[in-house]
Amino acid sequence: MNENFSILPFLKSKIFKIIVIILSIVLVLTLVGPLVVLAIASQPAVTEHAYSDVFFTSYEEVRANLNNRVLDLKSKNIEVHQSEYAVNAKEGLYIDNIYLPSTNEQTNLIVITTGVHGIEGYIGSVMLDVFFEEIYPDIDTVNTGILIVANVNPYGMKNMRRYNENNVDLNRNFIEDWDNFDLSSNTEYPKVDKFLQPEGKMGNAFWHEVGFYLSLAKEAIFTGADTISDALLTGQYEYPEGVYYGGNGDEVSTAYLKGVFADCLDGEYENIIHIDIHSGYGPRYNMVIFNSVQDPTTEAEAIAEIGYEYIIACDSEEFYITYGDTTDYFYRLAKSKGSDKGLYSTCFEFGTIGDGFFDSILSLKFTVDENRQHWYPSNDKITAEMVRQNYLELFYPTETEWRLKAISDFKAATLGVLNAKLK
Ligand SMILES: [Zn+2]
Repeated sequence: MNENFSILPFLKSKIFKIIVIILSIVLVLTLVGPLVVLAIASQPAVTEHAYSDVFFTSYEEVRANLNNRVLDLKSKNIEVHQSEYAVNAKEGLYIDNIYLPSTNEQTNLIVITTGVHGIEGYIGSVMLDVFFEEIYPDIDTVNTGILIVANVNPYGMKNMRRYNENNVDLNRNFIEDWDNFDLSSNTEYPKVDKFLQPEGKMGNAFWHEVGFYLSLAKEAIFTGADTISDALLTGQYEYPEGVYYGGNGDEVSTAYLKGVFADCLDGEYENIIHIDIHSGYGPRYNMVIFNSVQDPTTEAEAIAEIGYEYIIACDSEEFYITYGDTTDYFYRLAKSKGSDKGLYSTCFEFGTIGDGFFDSILSLKFTVDENRQHWYPSNDKITAEMVRQNYLELFYPTETEWRLKAISDFKAATLGVLNAKLK
């Protein structure tokens, strides 16, 4: 009884009231906060498909659509060779090839690759349809062949991940010679690895958000914002559970595509034009042509030649060097073979989130969260859904305006490239 008497004045005190108010606020944020966070993360529902209803949401749909494309081409008496390459037959994971030989002379070969970064293969699939519907009919097939290598990372497509079955970023895995490649080339990543690949399951979505921004602020102050961005751009080869992990040898998909590039260089076509389709980098509502470091053409020269406004070339301010990307490898292979063929290998990047300061933070957050969710799946359904929606927004936005612009940019850029590069 004595205890009660001693507690009573405390219950009436200001401090107790303040504690009650704080706890109430925490409770409301814990309960309502996640719903607000999820509402912000959620993509708009697709009210209207931007292009012939082909914005697919499953790997199987993408494959079936490609199959229909082959049937359609064959029904028009066009010679088509279709094949699939098993990355993992048991799991139903295949790379899909379509080859349309030129009908007479073997002058130009147009090569389009999609899905090197798994989830980015969905926008790639749409662009293949745009290509066949709107660009292919005007190509002079007498001297020009077409080779499509679709779904290069089928695991990533099926599981809506950028990385493959071994958590490898395939566009950092196209290393020419692993024996002479320095796996510890990224000296910045080890300084921020704990921030970029935190361990343990994410909990309440609201408090996860708060925690992320606090730890970002801490890293920015004590380690430096530049270190974080430098750690990410070039890829890393020492943290197999980390983000942008480039592996330590050729992945199955990589070895296969390297072989395709070699076949192109050893084949009959004199002039090769390769477009690798990606999304996630660059300004929103703008597709950027991102040239290889191996292409000495300046930005001004490239814009004049191709007639497309957004080109990042080796002398551009935004240019950054990565290791092990497909276009870089294609040029290096041509050089090592002493090939005298014409070769233009470039990357089409569809910007999604944007490229401002805060956009970069969001891209970073979505990337880190998704990787953590992969290794430590959260028991909190709202948190898991928030991560999924954010990742989709990063690589495959549903907004109609975005999709329409993506299609018109793809057409303009592809026509520009073909006009400039076809012989
Ligand atoms: Zn990509």
